[in-house]
Amino acid sequence: MLCGKCSHPNPDENKFCGNCGTSLPPVEVISLKDLVDAGILRAGDELSISVKGKDVAATLLADGKLKYQEQTYDAPLACAAALRGQVCDSWYCWEAVDHITGRKYPISHFRGALRRKRGEVPPSPR
Ligand SMILES: [Zn+2]
Repeated sequence: MLCGKCSHPNPDENKFCGNCGTSLPPVEVISLKDLVDAGILRAGDELSISVKGKDVAATLLADGKLKYQEQTYDAPLACAAALRGQVCDSWYCWEAVDHITGRKYPISHFRGALRRKRGEVPPSPR
């Protein structure tokens, strides 16, 4: 999430802003597996990430892990870090295709979809 004070993007897992140290509101961590279990993303989906200007694709597995070539990664963050050689806010760097709209979104979009599905946040106005 973005820091409310300095707008620095932080992984949702962070309790404090990596830039200015402000404490961030707690977020229930939704994993890729939660998204697969909810049917929002599916095993076999391709997730893509831009590495040095090129799109690289990894495959989503049924247990929420990501497979890239012969390597399996527990979390999108680990996979992004391995591919890019640096840590990024992986939930905004990875993109996947929405099965409902057929459009590509950063995977944070699907976390929002799950929260709406659970009734934790109201649907966005259209
Ligand atoms: Zn900050």
